[in-house]
Amino acid sequence: MAEDVLDAIVVGAGPAGITAARELAIAGLATVVLERAQTPGGKNVWGGILYRTPTEAMIPGFEDEAPLERPIIEQRYLVLTEDAMLGGTYRSMRFAEKPYNAYSALRAPFDQWYAGKAEEVGAEVYPEFTVTDLLWEDGAIVGVTTGDAEGELRSKVVVIADGANSLLAQRAGLHREWEPIEQALIAKEVVALPSATIEERFNLPAGMGTALEIFGESTWGLLGYGFIYTNKESLSIGTGALLEDLITSGRNVNDMLDRFKAHPAIAPLLAGGETVEYSAHLIPEGGYTRLPQLFTDGAVVVGDAAGFVNPLNREGVNLAMLSGKLAAQAIVEAHQRDDFSAAALSRYRELLDKSIIIDDLYKIRDVTDFAHGRPHLLRDYPELMSKAAHAYLTVDGRPKVASHGDIAKILRGVSKRQLLGDVIGALRTIRG
Ligand SMILES: Cc1cc2nc3c(=O)[nH]c(=O)nc-3n(C[C@H](O)[C@H](O)[C@H](O)COP(=O)(O)OP(=O)(O)OC[C@H]3O[C@@H](n4cnc5c(N)ncnc54)[C@H](O)[C@@H]3O)c2cc1C
Repeated sequence: MAEDVLDAIVVGAGPAGITAARELAIAGLATVVLERAQTPGGKNVWGGILYRTPTEAMIPGFEDEAPLERPIIEQRYLVLTEDAMLGGTYRSMRFAEKPYNAYSALRAPFDQWYAGKAEEVGAEVYPEFTVTDLLWEDGAIVGVTTGDAEGELRSKVVVIADGANSLLAQRAGLHREWEPIEQALIAKEVVALPSATIEERFNLPAGMGTALEIFGESTWGLLGYGFIYTNKESLSIGTGALLEDLITSGRNVNDMLDRFKAHPAIAPLLAGGETVEYSAHLIPEGGYTRLPQLFTDGAVVVGDAAGFVNPLNREGVNLAMLSGKLAAQAIVEAHQRDDFSAAALSRYRELLDKSIIIDDLYKIRDVTDFAHGRPHLLRDYPELMSKAAHAYLTVDGRPKVASHGDIAKILRGVSKRQLLGDVIGALRTIRG
């Protein structure tokens, strides 16, 4: 049997799994990736912002070959009320020069290309294989199965990279099923539009892109956000909220997305566009305080399966890639000692603890609980700000002292005590 045992099986051809597989193959380990979709990326969803520096660290020179959409030169933060929009924009021409800060990208082409890079260095990627369970021997994980005897595949180590709410991490006893407060549900569409129309509507130089993050009415005021990212010839648009809030409010993300698209400030951006893709997906939001156990005898967990997402900075793919790389490093060291026990694989956690992943997740560990405990933040403040802006900008022949009085009255709609509590709470949360 020994020759039938692979060095590593990776379950899931997302950025975490492919990075792990590529690093393992580069180190000379016999590595197989099993992916349930017809092609890598076929079932994967994201908004679409890929940061350059962390991606370059994984795969040098990626910009010259990867299927990317537009360099992102601008970030808009917007708040919607039922009939208004307010917010701020940061556009920097430094972001329009190489080296760029970030790109928009579409998952299906990007993941396929990335899987190809792992194959180039010797990893074998097999789509259309759904892993249904793990194989065990003497309490250690020794492989995976796709459900029948012929579908059993053995390896010295299994990398669990099956994404959000990982079934396999649960089977491995490393995690329980996530609770609704630990995950957000997002619906997303890709809406096709000509390149020139996108550039005109978003006031963009040719070939350049923007990212819009939109709060308030985009989620019915629930804890979550809407987004629009510009691709070459399409827009990625989505919205969603914490699952717990969706359940308690009785809202669903399909209706939320339709309503968002129909908002008077959003609809003109999409006018004439054709929806060419629809998807919905979970995002892990449990953060640092709810991280699962990340290794056991014969297996490690990476990427979304481990809950490595920073929702504040819209970072998931780069953390998934880095965790895949660190897991591979720990596995290569274990391979050199021929020891794949939990004790040997605990090196993965050690590497994570010294990385930006744990640093950043620790820093923002209280953000979700802070915002969830203050539902008025995205519900009442946008309304208040909109009314105040409306009063300030309306010229109606009255002396300014009268309109300023109106603004003061509007702002008194929130008590000083509540405002102070929110500001101090936010500063404490961000300070970490
Ligand atoms: C709407 C949305 C917007 C986002 N926007 C951004 C963004 O703009 N920027 C960013 O950096 N991150 C973003 N993210 C987060 C990012 O998409 C994830 O963090 C990242 O994809 C995690 O990579 P992964 O490899 O761990 O998991 P995934 O990309 O989910 O890959 C898991 C893979 O495992 C496969 N799989 C699952 N189960 C099995 C099985 N049993 N057998 C075989 N294969 C299996 C799946 O088909 C999939 O290919 C967003 C997420 C969502 C949902």
